[in-house]
Amino acid sequence: MIEQQIFGAERILIVGAHAFDGEMIAGPLAFVAASRGIEVTFLHLTMGEQGHRCLSTSLYAEQKRKEAADAASRLGAKWLTLDFPDAFLPNDEQTALAVCDVIRRIRPNVVITHWHGSWHKDHRAASELTKTGVFYAALPTLERESPAFSPSLLLFGENWEDDEGFTPTYLVDVSSGFEPWREAASTYELARGLSSFPYLDYYSALYRLRGCLRGTMYAQAFMGMSHSWNAGAGLFLPPQPA
Ligand SMILES: [Zn+2]
Repeated sequence: MIEQQIFGAERILIVGAHAFDGEMIAGPLAFVAASRGIEVTFLHLTMGEQGHRCLSTSLYAEQKRKEAADAASRLGAKWLTLDFPDAFLPNDEQTALAVCDVIRRIRPNVVITHWHGSWHKDHRAASELTKTGVFYAALPTLERESPAFSPSLLLFGENWEDDEGFTPTYLVDVSSGFEPWREAASTYELARGLSSFPYLDYYSALYRLRGCLRGTMYAQAFMGMSHSWNAGAGLFLPPQPA
């Protein structure tokens, strides 16, 4: 069962394009995992510092760092950022190698990121960079600071901007993470009226809707990789006994 695989992990890495994305894609899941003793880390590729109506990008980035730290702490998670520029997240080899280095350093059994079907270019890039980062992290002949490491599960979470072709493969019970998630999300001004999009309403209803289908109060939806990807990624693991 997918929940055994996720909550049986030692470490989980959640990669979002902008601070606040990871908390929507897998915030309730992060709390449930952390409360079971799993080390959960949010990697924000950019701080998402563009678009504030009053603040400069540098001031808003500073505010978002505080919001990200507060949100992560409420979810029992760690966080870090690679500080790429919002709206200009490069989708190239160097950036994928930076993601690879984080994966090799943290050694997560489970990696969660954006689904690629998004109107937002940074979200499409984050999805691709994570996929390539996992691939590079597993390559034993690719020399970096840390040795090769292969996560055993790569998942794509549900985000309102990434809805093109998103069809849930898995529904994961995250009921006990719902209230902590609401509190964590509310630390961001984005969820408190900065944006015209009603984030808390949307995600609260979404997690409840997924819960109705999962048979629990709340659930989060994820898509998986293809069988060929899973087999291909496994090529770099030590041979399994017959
Ligand atoms: Zn975003």
